Amino acid sequence: MDVDYLRVSVTDRCNLRCIYCNPLGGCDFIDRREILRFEEIRRLVGLFAECGIRKVRLTGGEPLVRKNIIRLVRELAGIPGIEELSMTTNGVLLEPIAKELKDAGLKRVNISLASAERECYRQITGFDLLSKVTDGIYKAIEVGLTPVKINSVIIKGVNVSQIPALAEMSIEIPVLVRFIEYCPTGRYTKPDSYYVPNSEVRKIIEREFGLLSSIVVGNANGPALYFKVEGSTGAIGFISGRSSIFCRQCNRLRLTSDGKVKPCLYSDHCYDLKKPIRSGASDEAVLGLMSRILREKNNYTRLNSSVRDFSMQNIGG
Ligand code: SAM
Repeated sequence: MDVDYLRVSVTDRCNLRCIYCNPLGGCDFIDRREILRFEEIRRLVGLFAECGIRKVRLTGGEPLVRKNIIRLVRELAGIPGIEELSMTTNGVLLEPIAKELKDAGLKRVNISLASAERECYRQITGFDLLSKVTDGIYKAIEVGLTPVKINSVIIKGVNVSQIPALAEMSIEIPVLVRFIEYCPTGRYTKPDSYYVPNSEVRKIIEREFGLLSSIVVGNANGPALYFKVEGSTGAIGFISGRSSIFCRQCNRLRLTSDGKVKPCLYSDHCYDLKKPIRSGASDEAVLGLMSRILREKNNYTRLNSSVRDFSMQNIGG
């Protein structure tokens, strides 16, 4: 599989405290001096584009809390070779700047939403901000940051009751609601026993809305499998990262907010790019390292990794 997709975590800071990601907040935040500066991100994305990266997704932490994010979007969207720039966001800060992001070159957004009900949303994220997220979703649709994808992590005993309401969003509005299997990330998040397989999520949806029919969305390259409730405007996706293995189809690299490239989400292995670029490495030298990362990527897969404790807010999901 050609690697043409780079996820860039632009900050490890976040304005929410999601129980599945970073419930305690700042305990592990990285020293700000270690976070890549815009010119460093721009340089690395430019060099990655020379190595064949065509799609870039900004993530975090929460990318919209990074100061001057619109400027970064404009700069990255203008890099020759980058065909698609997208963002994964919790949506809280999206509504007022959605149009500016679109005008700056952002193509589309994925918005994380694990509950359609106010109190449950507060319980999951720590904040009573559901209405801001829904405003962000409608605005993203209005300004054309489409297709808007909703990412819903389902956790046993927390938001299983929300599955029908989340699925129903795909019936009523033009969004792709994707159910993401919970992946325990160690220390602070809930243990494995809170994991709900997507086979169970699907049963709950089909009990409520009838059988789902399989559909193809986009180039069908990503890890999501898509389905439709009859007559729905949008679609439902399942990203079953626990119950399935996607290693063979994996086309992505992850650049952490402190400048490390992870060839596999589940592997401890990473390549430091910040160190060489801060110590004056030439473009040729950095390109050499990037080629090595691409060559070695397949050495690191979920099958031969056993990482148990990682920071989703630094890696970016
Ligand atoms: N703040 C943004 C957001 O909330 O979408 C971007 C960062 S968040 C780390 C990126 C993605 O990681 C989200 O779609 C979230 O659902 C997913 N994620 C975070 N922790 C997860 C976990 N423990 N298991 C599965 N997915 C997780």
